[in-house]
Amino acid sequence: MWHEEVDLLVLGTGAGGLAAAVTGAAEGLSTLVLEKTEWLGGTTAYSAGTCWVPDNRFQRADGVTDDHAVASRYLDALVGDRAPRDLRDAYLTHGPEMIDYFDALGVRFWPSKRVVDYHPEIPGAGMGGRALEPQTFDGRALGKENFGRVRRPVPEFALFGGTLMVRRAEVNELLTIYKGSARGVATALKLGVRWAADRLRYPRGTRLAMGNALVANMFDKLLAHKGRVWFTATATELIREDGQVVGAVVAHQGRELRVRARRGVVLAGGGFSASPGWRGRYLPSPTPQFTRAAEGATGSTLELAQAVGAALGEPRDDNAFWFPSSIGRRRDGATAVFPHIWDRAKPGIVAVDQNGRRFVDESVSYHRFVRAMYAAQAVPAWLVIDAAALRRYGLGMVRPHTPTGKYVEAGYLHRGATVRELAASIGVDPEGLAATVAAANRAAASGVDEEFGKGQSVFGHQYGDPDHQPNVNLGPIATAPFYAVAVVPTPLGTALGLRTDASARVLDEAGAPIAHLYACGNDAQSVMGSEYPGAGCQVGAGLTFGYVAARHAAVTASAVAEVIR
Ligand SMILES: Cc1cc2nc3c(=O)[nH]c(=O)nc-3n(C[C@H](O)[C@H](O)[C@H](O)COP(=O)(O)OP(=O)(O)OC[C@H]3O[C@@H](n4cnc5c(N)ncnc54)[C@H](O)[C@@H]3O)c2cc1C
Repeated sequence: MWHEEVDLLVLGTGAGGLAAAVTGAAEGLSTLVLEKTEWLGGTTAYSAGTCWVPDNRFQRADGVTDDHAVASRYLDALVGDRAPRDLRDAYLTHGPEMIDYFDALGVRFWPSKRVVDYHPEIPGAGMGGRALEPQTFDGRALGKENFGRVRRPVPEFALFGGTLMVRRAEVNELLTIYKGSARGVATALKLGVRWAADRLRYPRGTRLAMGNALVANMFDKLLAHKGRVWFTATATELIREDGQVVGAVVAHQGRELRVRARRGVVLAGGGFSASPGWRGRYLPSPTPQFTRAAEGATGSTLELAQAVGAALGEPRDDNAFWFPSSIGRRRDGATAVFPHIWDRAKPGIVAVDQNGRRFVDESVSYHRFVRAMYAAQAVPAWLVIDAAALRRYGLGMVRPHTPTGKYVEAGYLHRGATVRELAASIGVDPEGLAATVAAANRAAASGVDEEFGKGQSVFGHQYGDPDHQPNVNLGPIATAPFYAVAVVPTPLGTALGLRTDASARVLDEAGAPIAHLYACGNDAQSVMGSEYPGAGCQVGAGLTFGYVAARHAAVTASAVAEVIR
């Protein structure tokens, strides 16, 4: 009664799914991946692809050999009992192993030696080296058709309408052009020449960076190990026999197919950021209306698992990881959800609530910033900036050194000749905002933010302006006109998922594994609770537990083969 038989069936082509699939295929399992959209990569393809792996090979090469223990202390303090300790131990143990495994297959990373963890005030926080960046990948290696399958990056995070990808380090170099740097010009020329040559044959540049590079590279390795991907293929039901999951019913190309999975089914559907229903049930109020996550993350894989008895993890705090995002419109009329990842840390910007009052150190991580928004009931919050800072640093969709008129006309950017006029136009208390701006200007002059300590944290420093004195994060708001952009909470991933054990096996309500059913990425309950220890902990967990799941399925397979022999 089976239309197709494989060893490993994987649902989803993000970090979790591809890690499981590449590992399974490399371990010799016949592997089929289902992707319900027509694009490969899910939210991972939109992401920076940063991967948080303490105790990694690069740290060891630099002589740091105790980071497993140090990171463990950090997580104990940050996460505590909000997630089972054995799961984060498994992460810390298998993360470095996973990086080595993929490195050997040709999926490689660069260390980000200066990226500081998100809670530097907690003992054990990393001051650099734990975050890894995917190496760039040449999309031409995939061939034209497969390259065309890779989900395009977020247009606002790439150049030329989203067709030219640049690394973050390259963005910084390109910006030095405005200071007359020859190096910036050389970088622009190098990227531009390659892009122009690509555009003769491809719809976009083929030099891929960040999350796009990661998923394209993994796709390449999957195909090299004879793994397959079916696009626009949705699992509609898991088939369970004698207590174990043995396959799935799959809607594909107008047919309903029964696919047998001899060794396991891996759920990697990306959680539920894109489902209004799930968001309404599990995320805080006011319920987020937007997300920058990919459209496939609708919780459908969680529902498949629940139908065979799987348990959801315990809801914790806010059940999500957060970006504060502004909402704009693209030229084609589509909605643009723009995550304000780093711009809040620049000098000359304050975030205020409807009373015009600040509620947080603006330079904290995006996750902490949104939590502060909810705590202060500052939804939406407003990022307020003056003309000089806007020109120099940009804000959201408004890039540095570009005209602002079209953003004002579109209602994305609000403008006022005075601070009070700006406040009135955005419905914020004018007296409150005027007082806030006056205080911000005093802090800019003294270099000390008495109220929230912006400019004191090593975390914020890395995203300030190193050329700005006396404090890299504090600048005046003094040059008219004045501008504001509204930001709202948007989940970049969800933390509530299926309960799993340290082998990524899905557990039932009694805590027992459901045989042959695995979950990873955002489909699994976050091993960090809803905490965000450092850059890359979601892609890191996805890759790690995808790898763990497939290794478990493969080892079980070889153990069975051994018994049969
Ligand atoms: C702009 C942005 C930047 C980010 N940067 C980072 C970062 O640098 N580091 C980091 O750790 N996190 C980052 N995140 C968060 C991170 O990208 C996601 O949490 C993570 O990639 C999710 O991976 P995943 O494998 O769980 O799911 P996804 O990457 O979303 O993949 C899931 C896939 O499964 C498919 N699918 C869903 N249901 C089914 C089904 N029933 N059958 C078949 N297929 C299905 C979906 O269509 C999708 O393609 C970022 C997020 C955003 C939005």
